[in-house]
Amino acid sequence: MSYDFDLFVIGAGSGGIASARRAAEYGAKVGIVESGRLGGTCVNRGCVPKKLMVYASHFPALFEEARGYGWSPVESTLDWPHMIAAVNAEVTRLNGIYQRMLDGSKVEVFRGHGRLIDPHTIAIGEQTVTADKVLIAVGGKPVKPDFPGAEHTISSDDIFHLPEQPKHLVVLGGGYIGVEFACILKGMGSQVTQILRYTHILRGFDEDIRTEIQDAMERHGIRVVPNMRHIAIAKTDAGLEIAVKTADGEEDLILADAVSLAAIGRKPLLDDLGLDNTKVEIANGAIAVDHHSQTAEANIYAIGDCTDRINLTPVAINEGRAFSDTHFGNKPRQMNYENIATAVFSNPEAATVGLTEEEARAQYGDDAIKIYRSKFRPMYYVLPGKEEKTLMKLVVHQETDRVLGAHMVGDHAAEIIQGVAIAVKMGATKAQFDATVGIHPSSAEEFVTMR
Ligand code: NDP
Repeated sequence: MSYDFDLFVIGAGSGGIASARRAAEYGAKVGIVESGRLGGTCVNRGCVPKKLMVYASHFPALFEEARGYGWSPVESTLDWPHMIAAVNAEVTRLNGIYQRMLDGSKVEVFRGHGRLIDPHTIAIGEQTVTADKVLIAVGGKPVKPDFPGAEHTISSDDIFHLPEQPKHLVVLGGGYIGVEFACILKGMGSQVTQILRYTHILRGFDEDIRTEIQDAMERHGIRVVPNMRHIAIAKTDAGLEIAVKTADGEEDLILADAVSLAAIGRKPLLDDLGLDNTKVEIANGAIAVDHHSQTAEANIYAIGDCTDRINLTPVAINEGRAFSDTHFGNKPRQMNYENIATAVFSNPEAATVGLTEEEARAQYGDDAIKIYRSKFRPMYYVLPGKEEKTLMKLVVHQETDRVLGAHMVGDHAAEIIQGVAIAVKMGATKAQFDATVGIHPSSAEEFVTMR
């Protein structure tokens, strides 16, 4: 049977575009459909605009610190509409680059909502196309909260388009998104209150890392309200009134001028995909796939956030490229999920690779694990007289001396851990870390001198 395309990709986010281009490089005839802007969550309402806002949020602290080095005081205020316009202009520039990259790879781009009519046929409005293989890469969307007044909250999708800087931002949720935006807005001068379900942010991260970031956030002036059990929001002339009841029965009424950000997780975006017309199965709200990203329908594959495995852009890209290498490049391979490094662009920044102390102890037993920790004030903060600290931690398997996990809170954590991740992925031992000569003076050298 002949089809219009060898591969048709539904969703032109980071994962979809990477898979489409890789397959086309191997000579496959590839089509891709996207209903929104090219680049998906990461480019349009995630990693990219977020990171630009992280940069924007650092300047007030830098101005202050410059004085310790002899610079005269800087009087500066944030022109929020300018910042928002600049961030969105960059997103638009990237949309254009993605279009040109797809054109250059000879991937045919369709605009509209793609819906499966049968396993090999996709409808896009009135048009239909057929394909031998279909790759679903439709991503995710924010979970909508469900409590009285939840309609007054915004999601992280909206924050990039706020016309004015919130004077007081209330953040619900202590995951990546909640923590990052709490720190961004605090850095830009907003008052910030962060409401948590339990006591600490970033569940799943190493306990030392969680505590270190949260302590620093509170030191920077973010108010954390832990153990929230009930929440209700009322809109008043003055803004939003957020009533919180905590586990120990305390009641709190928080006034936010306009904005409350709900960042309570994301879920696969599977609306109206026509999956009922195929054998594709859903498990826990996500497309069920095997180790090769294959669904229960043999010619349909799925990658990225819509499969809810590890919801990170580079993971979706790697899953997609593994799929294309396997099916169109004659280079069969599976995505490897071990030792994936990740960062939280909070203030202080944090990054991690491998097992947390808690995971390592559970997996190998308490006596089998040795922990190396170093906490210090980086040289940069001495002259400004600031008490900002960096924490570095290695989790080591005693018997083999293998470094099972590396964790860091502090400036440039993402940049530093990316390099350390290569060593952890290769199975480096603590002795090999120690045999590496440090770069002096740097913070990173602590990773090779810990005792
Ligand atoms: P996460 O799943 O990371 O965190 C959700 C947070 O919301 C948790 O703190 C959770 O609390 C809390 N929560 C859940 N339900 C409720 C509720 N009903 N009331 C109050 N709090 C609640 O989701 P995010 O939205 O922050 O991010 C989604 C995903 O996006 C991340 O998992 C990550 O994969 C990706 N991402 C990655 C980034 C990066 O790499 N830097 C940046 C941003 C996003 P609890 O922990 O107590 O359950």
